[in-house]
Amino acid sequence: MKTLSFLNDHKDSAWNIFITQVERVLPHLGELEYWANTLMRPKRALIVDIPLEMDDGSVKHFEGYRVQHNLSRGPGKGGVRYHPDVTLEEVMALSAWMTVKCAALNLPFGGAKGGIRVNPASLTTKELERLTRRYTSEIGLIIGPQQDIPAPDVGTNAQVMAWMMDTYSMNVGATTTGVVTGKPVHLGGSLGRVKATGRGVYVTGLRAAERLGMSIHNARIGVQGFGNVGSVAAQLFASKGAKIIAVQDHSATLVNENGIDVDALIAWQQRNGEIRGFSDAGQLESEAFWTLSYEIVIPAALEGQITAARAEQLSCQLILEGANGPTVPQADDILHERGITVLPDVICNAGGVTVSYFEWVQDFSSFYWSEEEIYQKLDAIILRAFDDVWQKSEQLGVPLRTAAYAIACERILSARVDRGIYP
Ligand code: NAD
Repeated sequence: MKTLSFLNDHKDSAWNIFITQVERVLPHLGELEYWANTLMRPKRALIVDIPLEMDDGSVKHFEGYRVQHNLSRGPGKGGVRYHPDVTLEEVMALSAWMTVKCAALNLPFGGAKGGIRVNPASLTTKELERLTRRYTSEIGLIIGPQQDIPAPDVGTNAQVMAWMMDTYSMNVGATTTGVVTGKPVHLGGSLGRVKATGRGVYVTGLRAAERLGMSIHNARIGVQGFGNVGSVAAQLFASKGAKIIAVQDHSATLVNENGIDVDALIAWQQRNGEIRGFSDAGQLESEAFWTLSYEIVIPAALEGQITAARAEQLSCQLILEGANGPTVPQADDILHERGITVLPDVICNAGGVTVSYFEWVQDFSSFYWSEEEIYQKLDAIILRAFDDVWQKSEQLGVPLRTAAYAIACERILSARVDRGIYP
């Protein structure tokens, strides 16, 4: 399990989850299996120290990372996470999932990810800006529109991307919009980017439900994580007549058997920064989220949430992985045996990176598309990838995750073989 000397041996660590997922696809790779070791280690990992002058004049140090897992198919692509639990190992796994996701969608990118171990809510806006600018300068050695293009992830947003873009531009002496995606629209951001990941969860979820013969109308849905991904997915499913009966974030677990008013909850969350205190729903203790009866569950918070124990208990037909890496491999096996379909992250939440790809293309050409064009192109790309994965899963007789990895790894390793080893 331990592919690099400094890693921990915990089987459900994010990196070990990724390694197990790759091991499961090896029998389906034919001669390319020989090259699979390429995937078992990141190409490049940078650890940076970020000294931050706080508003009161004191200085604190934060640890940041940027990992480029694989660049065989193009520049690195992947978000930046600000969270108190961020580790190098987690960022490595997140970067590896980006490699697989970009290849599964056939986008011309490799995989990368970044992060800072910090609770952004504990900083003032000015402190957050200085932290972001110093981090960007430190990782400026390896990012760039042709090298590696960051984007938002947990704890970061369009404002953070604007600061990153400005800092990089100041350092290179020219405005370089294409260095990050997920920027504000007036700074070269793309229409549709904010809702893209949630929309991708929704359109692939609809297609999966259709394939399984499930109706969305009145379907009971549970959503863990009510940020960028979870809230948009919940809103779209509710607009199609589904009942969002439970929502969990870091602060609370809300339940309403008649369906939570998602628009009202979004308004509450935007005002308060959390869902706790919303009056039109009951509150449960957090573990109870996994014991309710659903048709669809959407994990949209952090990795490793669907453990073996929770997989034994879960009552649903379909899991839509809005989050990256929410299901541990042992839970995957249990869910498969129990006949619960898991639509894997590398397809289900790929709407964000797909519209990031559009943003990057638009920035290079300085020519911008309408929101309608963006959604049309997004739906076409993500549904084609979904259909390919569904077909591969039937052809190989394997779960959707292994099928997605088979398609992606074949593309990544073929690129590796054709490029050869330098020197
Ligand atoms: P976000 O910061 O907007 O929201 C995260 C949500 O998770 C918040 O509601 C937070 O309260 C909740 N949360 C955090 N810890 C929790 C816990 N222990 N239990 C329950 N809820 C918890 O982040 P986001 O952008 O919505 O990302 C969510 C997931 O989706 C992450 O796994 C991320 O990597 C993945 N993802 C995001 C994008 C994107 O475009 N933003 C794209 C692909 C995948």
